[in-house]
Amino acid sequence: MKNGQNIRLRITGIVQGVGFRPFVYRVALKYGITGSVRNDTRGVLVHAQGDTASLDSFVEEIRGAPPPLSRVDSISIEDELPADYDGFYIEKSEELDERSAIIPPDSALCAECLAELKDPADRRYGYPFITCTNCGPRFSIVRDIPYDRENTSMKLFTMCHICGREYGDPLDRRFHTQPNACPACGPRLELHDARGTMLSADPMEIARMTVEYAREGRIIAIKSVGGFLLACDAESDSAVIELRRRKGRPFKPFAIMAGSVERAESFLEIGNIEERLLLSHERPILLMKEKASLVSRHVAPGLSYIGLMLPYTPFQHMLFGVDRYLVLVMTSGNVADEPIIYRDRQAFEELGNIADVFITYNRDIEQFSDDSVLFVEKGMPFFARRSRGYVPVPLLLAADGPEVFATGGDLKSSFAFARGRSAVMSQFIGDLESPSANALYRAEMRRFGEIYRFEPRTVACDRHPGYFTSAIAGELEALGMHRIAVQHHHAHIVSVMEERNLAGRVIGIAFDGTGYGTDGRLWGAEFLVADRTEFERLAHFSYFPLPGGESAIRDVWKIGIALLRARYGDDYPIMRRGKEAVMVCEVIEKKINCPETCSIGRIFDGVAAILGIAKSVSAEAEAAMLLEEAALRGAETWIDDGWVIPVSAGFPAVISTESLVERVVTLRLSGRSVEETACAFHAAIAGIAVAMAENIRGKDGLNDVVLSGGAFQNRLLLRLIIDGLREKRFDIHLPEKIPFNDGCLALGQIAVAREIIQHEKR
Ligand code: ZN
Ligand code: ZN
Ligand code: FE
Repeated sequence: MKNGQNIRLRITGIVQGVGFRPFVYRVALKYGITGSVRNDTRGVLVHAQGDTASLDSFVEEIRGAPPPLSRVDSISIEDELPADYDGFYIEKSEELDERSAIIPPDSALCAECLAELKDPADRRYGYPFITCTNCGPRFSIVRDIPYDRENTSMKLFTMCHICGREYGDPLDRRFHTQPNACPACGPRLELHDARGTMLSADPMEIARMTVEYAREGRIIAIKSVGGFLLACDAESDSAVIELRRRKGRPFKPFAIMAGSVERAESFLEIGNIEERLLLSHERPILLMKEKASLVSRHVAPGLSYIGLMLPYTPFQHMLFGVDRYLVLVMTSGNVADEPIIYRDRQAFEELGNIADVFITYNRDIEQFSDDSVLFVEKGMPFFARRSRGYVPVPLLLAADGPEVFATGGDLKSSFAFARGRSAVMSQFIGDLESPSANALYRAEMRRFGEIYRFEPRTVACDRHPGYFTSAIAGELEALGMHRIAVQHHHAHIVSVMEERNLAGRVIGIAFDGTGYGTDGRLWGAEFLVADRTEFERLAHFSYFPLPGGESAIRDVWKIGIALLRARYGDDYPIMRRGKEAVMVCEVIEKKINCPETCSIGRIFDGVAAILGIAKSVSAEAEAAMLLEEAALRGAETWIDDGWVIPVSAGFPAVISTESLVERVVTLRLSGRSVEETACAFHAAIAGIAVAMAENIRGKDGLNDVVLSGGAFQNRLLLRLIIDGLREKRFDIHLPEKIPFNDGCLALGQIAVAREIIQHEKR
């Protein structure tokens, strides 16, 4: 190769632990390239020697067809002095700087492994732990970095010589696959009854029995990737009702699983984007519209959108191999709103009264995660929950900066660490109301810190004085860290600015359940002008009392009365005035535990109650979801009459909640249907959002609008506001990699904290 040319390639992105080096090795062999490939602190480094044409093809193929689980952010090429290579080598990693090492996310079974799983001639036929470089568990089995077998829960399993050979062969699909295993040497699947007695350890038999159990209406706990899932026959009313009863979960929709897109398509509307996401290696749950009734209406009571995912573990595929028409409920294995259970012992203890049988295996789940959830609206996918499959893929930040730990918020909780230009967001931890959720949050926080060796000197948190996440920040401050508290809705807006890389000032519309305001009241319908350090509150809905405070948001009828009373006094013209209602009026009159709020989420709750759609709810946003459902039906006949909510003059502008309530009551009493009234209510809120954005543009000349907040998971509201803003030619910015809900807060807190630190330095 004396006449060859020498180049050096540096590849950055998700390129470690995803089979990148063997891929480069194979491509090098293909084109007769000599040289070497290795991992280093910044990614993958390649030295390559060959003739110009071969080198071109080599680079072209690396660029064009990288391994499925990788994500190439950049490839830089430089000429190098000639060197003597007698072949192409995968070099041992340089002393890997732990600070930049990354852990790959869990990934769905790949097509090649699936084919082997189904092939009676393959040595892994029917083996539920089949995996390769391109698929399988990663994040969920990691104890430490670097990501090597000794640092995972595969450590207990010594590879047999055949597996060992695969592991050591750069031309094999299982080269350096840390969880590589086979029936002779790997983890085992077991079926137990609820008391822990083993019934079978034959995976094929277990799959057949599971399908039988489901058909008999039984409830099955299945240890999945990030924790236990509870399964039952989704077509059986009695099974689904029984699962709801045992779980203590009357309303919150269950996710379901079908064996194929074709099967799911028989009862759900699946668009191109949904299909692509359903089949992606992240395999999230997609919320899709029901078009034919197949599954029990108790799967998602009163809702027309159902969350469905396709199988992602070998065992799930085996179930649908037994019966391809099967449709199963697959919901997180937990009790009520507690976090997902992922340890065997805890599963038998706490799910023993829920599940009839348990399918487990003798490998620990090190990091729990729930299934991720997305929905598609206006041709764009949005996260409702970012967890399995996506965590811990780092988010690329707009700029470099100091290390920061952000505690996030107490609902839909997720914390984050920032280092350099990336932020690692934790999995979805859920609502931090219970001691066990708090303990899990602490454990996970410690674990992330240890694994990544994060040593931040700054902690960012919400301003809510009662949040668990604020208390955590207080504890870290007591240990000497610099604490920066960020207002809830400011964090919402800045999270999107950070993700979409927006600089300067924007108009931010934050519509959500509740966030602690700078005036100590409960905000939640905020029009801000914000940059990364500051915000100005330019408009909000008028305040109303929340009888019983934040903890009483389950009794939405009380909110309905509070809204009516704020407009009409004690003689309101709709809703029954029973003994309880009179008591609520007294509580409001005497201001006993009645914090003031202007939250759009609570307005939705109250209006749902006024319209008789919900009285008491079992889950946050339940009333709002049912109101949206009614409105979607009403949208078929409702013709907008151009009514606009009155607003006070000047800034900050106050939008009249009383007038909005009066509008709802008037329409309803004049004989409009509940559905049309619900639709008119949505239209009024979307209308004022667009009008207010215009007012602010008129004042400040800003044209960029950012939307954030859990209320945008309301499809109708999101659709109407996007249409309205587009019509007025605003530049609209929406979150793509983080949720609208409070799962985004940690990222916003990081961005605000970093900017404040930079300012302090100057
Ligand atoms: Zn595979
Ligand atoms: Zn083996
Ligand atoms: Fe929020």
